Amino acid sequence: MSKRDYYDVLGVGKDASKEEIKKKYRKLARQYHPDVSDEADAADKFKEVKEAYEVLSDQQKRAQYDQFGHAGAQGQGFGGFGGGAEDFGGFGDIFDMFFGGGGRRRDPNAPRKGADLQYTMNLSFEDAIFGKDTDIQIPKEEECETCDGSGAKPGTSPETCPHCQGSGQLNQEQNTPFGRVVNRRVCHHCQGSGQIVKDKCNSCGGSGRVTKRKKIHVNIPAGIDDGMQIRIAGQGEAGVNGGPAGDLFVVVRVQPHEFYDREGDHIFCEMPVTFAQAALGDELEVPTVHGKVKLKVPAGTQTGKTFRLKGKGAPNVRGHAHGDQHVKIRVVTPQKLTDRQKELIREFSEISGNESIDEQHGNFFQKMKRAFKGE
Ligand SMILES: [Zn+2]
Ligand SMILES: [Zn+2]
Repeated sequence: MSKRDYYDVLGVGKDASKEEIKKKYRKLARQYHPDVSDEADAADKFKEVKEAYEVLSDQQKRAQYDQFGHAGAQGQGFGGFGGGAEDFGGFGDIFDMFFGGGGRRRDPNAPRKGADLQYTMNLSFEDAIFGKDTDIQIPKEEECETCDGSGAKPGTSPETCPHCQGSGQLNQEQNTPFGRVVNRRVCHHCQGSGQIVKDKCNSCGGSGRVTKRKKIHVNIPAGIDDGMQIRIAGQGEAGVNGGPAGDLFVVVRVQPHEFYDREGDHIFCEMPVTFAQAALGDELEVPTVHGKVKLKVPAGTQTGKTFRLKGKGAPNVRGHAHGDQHVKIRVVTPQKLTDRQKELIREFSEISGNESIDEQHGNFFQKMKRAFKGE
């Protein structure tokens, strides 16, 4: 099944405002929420709507999507990873939507999304062009398995904080000359969590979270370029109170190459040729990342002349066609000559004079003489 365009999914234009996107999302999410809708494919539609909203409501993710489409912004897509966490995220959102909203009083027990992580990956020039399947190891905080994230020793459970009755906040009353002022502060008995752990879990020391090195599979799309990033949904840090996990952003750094330069999908290189090859023409063997290619250099080729090898550049990361390789010719003047070589060049010079320069530059010597007179 091919992925639908996120803007189409939400039924908004490419230039839709944040407000417009939010409004459409709310409407569609209500319509397709699996608890509400009777439609057979409601769950899939709901997931699709939620995914589109997640990307388009986030300025950074939306910019990435606009630039690279599904391949660049999404990278690994949503399907491959723990559907459970994703669905849970959905409920979190819906919960927010029906019962929350802006300017709310924060409930310490409400689900919260985990932090996003960033990982910098160094890639060789060739791997960036052809893509790569690889595993990376990242340290990240996960929910403690021993206590299921509660922080309490197995068999016990955290108790509601008696000081704030679980709200995580304390009201502090103060009498001032202007009357009574009530301040709301974070409860220092439970650090705002609303819960107190009496018997702490040994594995996590009561925090409910442990740091683990986790192996994550990353699929680098062919044609990726320096500075681009791949988002792997749900592979950031674990959420809090059953909230969805954050995302992992893999930022790509591409190593420079000793022979090739790259600009976008195009590859550039320089080929030195001798004066004789340039004057008489020759067939060169030019390296490309796709293998050797024969290039016919016609007789009379000037230094700086560029030839295009079509389709021998990098593939476009969104999958539209290929860049080209541009080969710039550089005519090399010999530096070490034998007596015999010098003699032949002198002889060549005598019989040809300045005719080749005049030919190229339209009576060059006439123009030069006029310039001397003007001095
Ligand atoms: Zn408390
Ligand atoms: Zn624990």
